[in-house]
Amino acid sequence: MLRRQALRESAARTYARSLPIVPVRARGLTIEGADGRRYLDCLSGAGTLALGHNHPVVLEAIRGVLDSGAPLHVLDLATPVKDAFTTELFENLPAELAADARVQFCGPAGTDAVEAALKLVRAATGRTGLLTFTGAYHGMTAGALEASGGAGDVRVTRLPYPQDHRCPFGIGGAEGARLGARWTETLLDDPKGGVPLPSAMIVEPVQGEGGVHPAPDAWLRRMREITAARGIPLIADEVQTGVGRTGAFWGVDHAGVVPDVMVLSKAIGGSLPLAVIVYRAELDVWAPGAHAGTFRGNQLAMAAGTATLAYVRRNGLAERAAALGERMLTALRGLGAEQPCVGDVRGRGLMLGVELVDPDTGAAAPALASAVRQECLDRGLIVELGGRHSSVVRLLPPLTLTDEQAAAVLDRLADSIPAAAR
Ligand code: PMP
Repeated sequence: MLRRQALRESAARTYARSLPIVPVRARGLTIEGADGRRYLDCLSGAGTLALGHNHPVVLEAIRGVLDSGAPLHVLDLATPVKDAFTTELFENLPAELAADARVQFCGPAGTDAVEAALKLVRAATGRTGLLTFTGAYHGMTAGALEASGGAGDVRVTRLPYPQDHRCPFGIGGAEGARLGARWTETLLDDPKGGVPLPSAMIVEPVQGEGGVHPAPDAWLRRMREITAARGIPLIADEVQTGVGRTGAFWGVDHAGVVPDVMVLSKAIGGSLPLAVIVYRAELDVWAPGAHAGTFRGNQLAMAAGTATLAYVRRNGLAERAAALGERMLTALRGLGAEQPCVGDVRGRGLMLGVELVDPDTGAAAPALASAVRQECLDRGLIVELGGRHSSVVRLLPPLTLTDEQAAAVLDRLADSIPAAAR
């Protein structure tokens, strides 16, 4: 039955499609398959499950709405559920933005929020160009694809995203980042051959799909200065980095940067589909009806989101992610030092990546990464691949990960890498 249905689904790539698991139950870090096998899920619905699967506070919030008789769907009418979500969200925003911001419910996915952000800055600035970065990922709808690295559209100007491993300038470190910022200024200020003043710059504080590259804080601050000085709105795509994932509540918090627009989805819906943009009130040029959409503001998702945001805040899960992430990074680096096929280990908070390479040439090793993923699965560990060459094993465990679970994840990964390399 399941098999036949699976065959009818499009062959388009989706996360985890190749995993031969039929999940029937899940709790916290663990997924149980129809065959009774249990897996540690370090994919977490592509980073959506900040509190893991079926966390009691999330289930309670969803049940609360269901049992209350509240409407489940009312387009974008104001409801108590929405009021609670918006209040909790604003309590957690960077204070400077929260003081004078608007929220637009988009829906229901991250890519929808990206579209809304791109549309907003075009309307607000009257300009169409967009600055984006090598390796970026913003979603799969037309505008978001344009903004993503590799889409190959001509309307965007792609700037080098700073990274140590495979730095676009071959330098890495602070110097590579400095050159990237300088190049941005050169392009913007060159009256001949530069780029026309764009509608925005869109940036991920840590590139996730691009292979887990945290932006250096100083570079992000420089990008903020460069865009502010020229009246270019800065859009932070926090779809994956938001809600404690990187070890701060928002990815931009590490650098103390306040963007003009924040794009939020994944964890803010507490495992249900929800997407919003939050932006400075001065950008709010939209007339009523300018950004419509049927499925904005799902009541269940808002309730689950409110519970998640509040739980992360009250329990200091961002700080916990920072501390545990640091320890996991150290352990992974130790593992990398023993394994010549590990080319690089990087991450921030509980957004971690291990890049597999050919030990002789240093070239990205996607087939080996794929084999590692399979070895992990055989050991009951779910991981996903990312990066330009699909050579980066990515870990996105829930922020509720315990020390014992972290050790189990690391053990299984440590066994899988040499097994795949053999
Ligand atoms: N932006 C970023 C940074 C993402 O990581 C993703 C999804 N991986 C998206 C946008 C798109 O979100 P969705 O898949 O919900 O459309």
